[in-house]
Amino acid sequence: MTHGLRMPPALMRELAGYVTEILVEWKQRLPDESAWDGEFKQELRARLMEAPPESGRAPREVIDRAVRDVLSPAMRHEHPRAFGFVPSAPTWPGVLADYLVTGFNINAATWLSASGPSQLEAVVLDWFRRWLRFPETAGGVLTSGGSAAALDALVAAREAAGNPERATVYMSDQGHSAQARAARIIGIRPDRVRVLSTGPDFRLDPDTLAAAVETDRAAGCMPIAVCADAGSTSTGAVDPLLQIADYCAPQGIWLHVDAAYGGSAVITEAGARLLRGIERADSIGIDPHKWMFQPYDTGCLLVRDITTLERAFAIHHDVLQDSVWGANHPNQADRGLQLSRRDRALKIWMSVQIFGMAAFRDAVAQGIERAERAAQYVADSAILELMTPASLGIVCFRVNPRDGATPEATLHQINKTILARVFWEERAFLSSTLLRRRFALRLCVINHTTTWDDVHETLETIERLGREAL
Ligand SMILES: *Cc1c(COP(=O)(O)O)cnc(C)c1O
Repeated sequence: MTHGLRMPPALMRELAGYVTEILVEWKQRLPDESAWDGEFKQELRARLMEAPPESGRAPREVIDRAVRDVLSPAMRHEHPRAFGFVPSAPTWPGVLADYLVTGFNINAATWLSASGPSQLEAVVLDWFRRWLRFPETAGGVLTSGGSAAALDALVAAREAAGNPERATVYMSDQGHSAQARAARIIGIRPDRVRVLSTGPDFRLDPDTLAAAVETDRAAGCMPIAVCADAGSTSTGAVDPLLQIADYCAPQGIWLHVDAAYGGSAVITEAGARLLRGIERADSIGIDPHKWMFQPYDTGCLLVRDITTLERAFAIHHDVLQDSVWGANHPNQADRGLQLSRRDRALKIWMSVQIFGMAAFRDAVAQGIERAERAAQYVADSAILELMTPASLGIVCFRVNPRDGATPEATLHQINKTILARVFWEERAFLSSTLLRRRFALRLCVINHTTTWDDVHETLETIERLGREAL
């Protein structure tokens, strides 16, 4: 049995084995389950709310209860038919690496506290640097995700600009809420956050940007940063990065490219073509927990010049003086907002070591191709309308018969109803977005376990529900 807060080795092994069995069995069963499960508050509160027990309970019973009442009523992001938001299908080595990291209880704050993990983070960041074709001066930090990456980037941008009064920040109307939140957190007043209208292709027009910057300069404001999208979450659209970089560089405005969603595509030929110009950014946020098949939470921020990040974040604290080993031994805590931080490099490193880059490249390329095939299917359907072309694994469409006679308000209602029916009745899960206020169904097909049949049958289901609704 347990002693105080310790467990004898035999029981440690037994419980770890039990948990492993549960997970492997769950992953095998997953395709036959629904991609989403959830419960309402009243039910879950009744099952879970209680005072903490004074004496311990049987471990297996506690684990069973956790699986049944906590872990099951949740989105199955790795389900082959989970097409909503941004799916996340982690590799098994990635999951095991997180187990190891937690078991070794690594604190990747400083070189002193974690020299091996610090060196490995340097290795993984260097991989990202190569993929993104950043110069040798570049460096970065692994973060909780794209939100933290955008926040750290905007702090660096603000400090690089000398922390001016009346600072302005620019993003497009397709920019992720993480960009607006980062601007808010760093203290940019709401009336100085410029949300610029995109063109018909949902991309930021450099002329629109230039006009806004000029107006602001004339009014005595100080433009400090532009957030551009390399794969917007709504449509997968990529802003004209080269032109935006050409504009920002002579203006001395920091260019942050939010590639949290689409950045991983850079490892493929097609993706690298689409993301051309990303290497001109001052900073890039990219989320391995999206399209690099890693478990949550795994984000990455790279900056063109690592000293900009250190100047923004390094603060001396006497109680940490022993961990200052000099420039050759960087402390990752000096490059972002977290001091204590888990190791996030091992999962990326272990899964790339075990599968190799060719397998990752194929998996990402297949996501891009599946979306193109889905868009073709939609274009050929008598009852579906393609709303945006396939871009980086995303397709937006809706039920709209060819006759063009259905009023917008009706289409809105029909598609909303179809989405609700998929949600409650079907194995698949998808989500929606608004494109110039028009309701769009949105498929994100980047999961490496998804087959064409999974996509195809889901589209057929939507066609059937569409016919029933019309
Ligand atoms: C997901 C996403 C974010 C937010 O990233 P988190 O990892 O959820 O913090 C920011 N920008 C884009 C484009 C995204 O797709």
